[in-house]
Order: sequence, then C-alpha cells, then structure tokens
Amino acid sequence: MAMLQERADRQRRMQARPQRPAWPTLRRAIALHRPHRTMVTALIAVIIFASVVGLGPAYITQRIIDQAILKNGGNASELNILILVMLALIMLNSVAGVAQAYLSQSVGQSVMFDLRRSLYRHLTGMSLRWFTSMRTGEVLSRVNNDVGAVQSVVSDTLSGVVGNVIICATTLGLMFYLDWRLSLFCIAFLPIFVIPARRVGNMQRELVTESQEELATLTAQMQETLSVSGALLVKAFGRQEAEIGRFEESAKRIRSLNIRRAMVGRGFMMAMGMFSTLAPAIVYWYGGHRIIGGESSLGTVVAFGALLTRLFGPFSQLLNIHVTVLSSLALFERIFDYLDMEQEIVDRPGAAALRHPRGDLAFNDVGFSYLKDKQTLEHISFDVPAGHFAALVGHSGAGKTTVAYLVPRLYDVRSGSITIDGHDIRDVTLESLGAAIGMVNQEPFLFHASIRENLRYGTPEATDDQIEQAARAANIHEFIARLPFAYDTVVGERGYRLSGGEKQRVAIARALLKDPAILILDEATSSVDSETERAIQGALEHLTKGRTVLAIAHRLSTIVAADLIIVLEDGRIAEQGRHAELLARDGVYARLYRQQFREEWNEGIEVSAR
Ligand code: ADP
Repeated sequence: MAMLQERADRQRRMQARPQRPAWPTLRRAIALHRPHRTMVTALIAVIIFASVVGLGPAYITQRIIDQAILKNGGNASELNILILVMLALIMLNSVAGVAQAYLSQSVGQSVMFDLRRSLYRHLTGMSLRWFTSMRTGEVLSRVNNDVGAVQSVVSDTLSGVVGNVIICATTLGLMFYLDWRLSLFCIAFLPIFVIPARRVGNMQRELVTESQEELATLTAQMQETLSVSGALLVKAFGRQEAEIGRFEESAKRIRSLNIRRAMVGRGFMMAMGMFSTLAPAIVYWYGGHRIIGGESSLGTVVAFGALLTRLFGPFSQLLNIHVTVLSSLALFERIFDYLDMEQEIVDRPGAAALRHPRGDLAFNDVGFSYLKDKQTLEHISFDVPAGHFAALVGHSGAGKTTVAYLVPRLYDVRSGSITIDGHDIRDVTLESLGAAIGMVNQEPFLFHASIRENLRYGTPEATDDQIEQAARAANIHEFIARLPFAYDTVVGERGYRLSGGEKQRVAIARALLKDPAILILDEATSSVDSETERAIQGALEHLTKGRTVLAIAHRLSTIVAADLIIVLEDGRIAEQGRHAELLARDGVYARLYRQQFREEWNEGIEVSAR
C-alpha cells in the first residue's frame, strides 16, 4: 500500500516537473572545464597514449601466433623479443594509468573548487529578502551535498568518456585492419544496448533529483532541530519523538530512492556482462569458419577475441556514462539554478565609492513593500543632518525596523530615494556604503570565535590597543578581562555564553572600532538591571557622539534627548519634531508617550524628586 502510494506520489511529481532539455546544462557543465584547459589537454594526451599502448598486446598476440610460432616451424628468438616488448607495453600502460588517475582527480577537484567558490560568492551576495525566505539547511545542502556529489562525476566522467571513446576507436580501427568482415559481424550486435541505456539514464536522472531534494529537506530539518534554539523548542514541547518520526520518514525515502537508483543501473550492467562473456563464442564460431575456409588466420581470430573483450568494457562504460551523465545533470541543474538566481541588490554599473562621508541622511518620499500587494512604508520623508540623533518611535509593526534596514540597502526602496550627503545610496558602491554605516542590533550576532576576533570583525587592521580602548569606552573591558581567557575567550553559539547586556556592549565596541559616519541603533527592549542599563547607556554615549544616528528607540531617556523624533504609524510618518514640540501638539506622539512611558516617566519624576 505504502509502496503504491509512494509510486503515485512520484509519478505526480514527475509530471509536475517536466524534464528540461539536457544539452544546455551539459554544455555549461563542459564549459566549467575551460579554465583548466592545460590539465584537460594533458589528461587527453595521457589517455590517447595509454589506449594506443594498450592495443599492443593484442596485436603482438597475432604476430606471436602467426609469425613466431606457426610460420616455418617457429622462430624462438623472435618469440622472446615479442614477449619482452609485450611486457614492456603492459608496464608502460600501468604507469600511464597512474598519471591518468592523478590528472583526472585534479581536474575534478578543480572544477569542484570553482563551483563551490562561485556558489558561495553568489549566495553571500543575495539580498536579505532571499535569506528570510529560504531554509538555511536547504541552502547548505546545495552547497555541500550537491557540489560534493558532482565531484566524482566530473573526474570520472571526463576521463571515462574521452578514454573510452579513444579505446573504442583505436580497437575498432585495429579490428578492421585485421579482418573487416569479422569486425562488421561483431559490431552488428552492439546497437542492442544503446536503446535501453537511454531509458536507464533518464530514470536515474529523475531519481537523483528526487533524492537530492529529499536530502535537502533532511538537512534543513536537522539544521533546525539540532541548533541551540531549535533543540530548546523541541525539548520544551516534548516533541522529540515527533521529530524523530519526521526524520525517519525522510531518511526512509532517501533509502528507497538510492536503492532503486543502484538497481536500475545494475540490471543494465548485468545484461552487458552476460553479452561480453558470450562474445568469444561468436568470434570463434564465425572466425573459425573463416579459418577453415582459408580466409583468416588463427592469430587474427585469437587477437580478435582479445580485442573484442577489450572493446566491451569501454563500450558498456560509455553506455553507462550516458547514464551517469544524465543523472549528474540533475545535480548540475540544481547548482546552476542557484547560480542563476538574480541578485536583487547589486552595484549599479559605474557606481562610485562614497568617500569620506559626513553623514547627512535623508529619506525622500520613500515607499516600500515586502510583499507585492501590501504597502509597508508610504511617503516617508525626513532629514537627519550630519551628527544629529534621530529616534524612530511607534507601536510594534509600525515599520521602524524596515526604515532602519533601508539605509544599508538590506532592501531597496520601491519608490522615492534615500540619500547620504546628497548621493542616492543606489548610486554608490555597496562596499563603501557598508563602510559608512554601523549597526547595533537588539540581539547582536557573535561568531564562534574569540572576543578579540569578534571585535575586530569590521576593522581587521585594528591593533590590540585600539580594541582594548574600544572595549573600555563600551564599558565591557573589565568584564572581558575577568573571562577565563580574557580577549581570547571563544564566544558565540557554542562558546562562552554572554548575557544580552554583555553582547550589546561587545556590539557597541565593535561599532566603535569601525567608526562609521552613520549609526543604525536598535535599542534593546528587554529590561536589564539598572547597573547594566547604566553601563550600556554610558557605552552608547561614546558611540553616538559626533555621528549621525538613526535609532529605533524604546527608552524614554533616548527619545527625550533626540534631535528629531519620527513617529511612525502603520508605515507612515504621523508626526516628527522634538520631544517638547510633539508633546505640546498633543497628537499621536503625546498619546503614545502617555501609553508607553507613563510608568517610566513617573519613576523618573520620583527619582528626581527624592
Ligand atoms: P517594527 O520594527 O516597527 O516593529 P517592522 O518594520 O519590523 O516593524 O515591520 C513592519 C511591517 O512589515 C509589519 O507588519 C511586519 O509584519 C512586516 N514585515 C516585517 N518583515 C517582513 C518580511 N520579511 N516579510 C514580510 N513582511 C514583513
């Protein structure tokens, strides 16, 4: 029942996914070898050499029988020489085999390296929109599993195709030279195998696509459930068994797909094997009759037997390579799909670097939407002169984060423009834009590396002294100095766990080191104790001094002190101005302020009254 269901599912999927023409993908896969021309040429040369040398023994066999043994009662010294030549050729052939293996591995690994590199480069250039829409595990699976699977195919296929074609051609050439009638007779049997090979190839290609897709799903599930936060959720909800079940389902499908894939190829190979054992019978039957009729010699027929055996291996491999090539096309297709994805946010042609930015930031009637039919931001216009502090306030979901994300071009505006020092940010290079902007998030991300390396991330050239200075300014130096390995303590997901407040200060120190003209700040919402709060505030004062700041503000003290408060409501600017002005206007801001900050405000009054 389950089998039937599975088969029906598979057929449905196959119909839903029409097979693409093979040739463009194949041509592109071949083009990947172009940068390694020299190695490929050397490989082909070695293959040609090996296959010509490989013909030697069969040809010498004919000479041994017809000339050295049977002719005029035999010639012992000629026999000795011929045997020596034969041994030398066999040895040469083995050496050439080693060279061939080395070269074909090198070509395969180099193509893999290129693929991996360009894939990683391409993916890092994808926009945040793409990252938020993808499962991390699936992405990893394509870079790892698919590129990895291509490796053996590339190195085996190239030398396989070239080598076998040459062996077949030279062997057939010698066969025709020795006895063309006998050759034609033998060749008549070959086409029987071409047709089934095509079918097997297409089936395998389909099975490979499916098993790689399933592998990607499995990797994604593992990545999610075996990450710290995922594992925490699974445990907290007691869902281990359910997750194991889901995992098993996926793993089972991979098992059956792979078994089927192996068997599809095997059946075909078995038929080929059987034929190759029957071949000598055919040669000796037809060849024998020709010797009896005086049309051929014993040496020729014996050599023919050897040649035909030599032909079958490469011939069946060639047919099988058709199968491997077709199934590897599925892998290449998956990789090329990724390489062809359009990078949404890239440098405009002729984009200039933003040099020595002052930090005048302006939004000019900016409109933006994440999804086609729902406008997220509309008519956003404001100016933050260099060195000024602007606070974005509004209810959750009003669009504060989105406004902040538009500045470093994590997303591009749909309409209007954003300028820095009067330059549209889409006209400057992404690299210089990135250098001009620093970001401190609510939940700063730290890499699994030492604190020192994390601090140095945006400023690789920073000296240890500068790092310590920044850490002092961010009120985190003393804390770091007390860690087990001080600045060399490894932090991040699997390292020493820092609290939210500590992470924030590390992020502030990191931004201080980078010293950007414009700072995007997302104040933490979670409450910390007052001592930590004071430490963070002190650190922020250092960081924001003399810079343009666009802050998603949650703290009253930040908002009250801001040069400009931008009040967002449902993706539009409801009001903007300074605290006192807005309060006096008694509009949206005054309402928001009374709702959200009454307690904090009262506390403030109490504290100052005491
Ligand atoms: P805030 O920071 O003020 O809480 P956001 O800027 O995060 O608000 O969100 C503004 C609106 O955009 C919300 O309605 C939110 O659901 C939506 N939104 C945020 N991120 C995405 C996304 N990646 N895809 C689709 N909608 C999003």
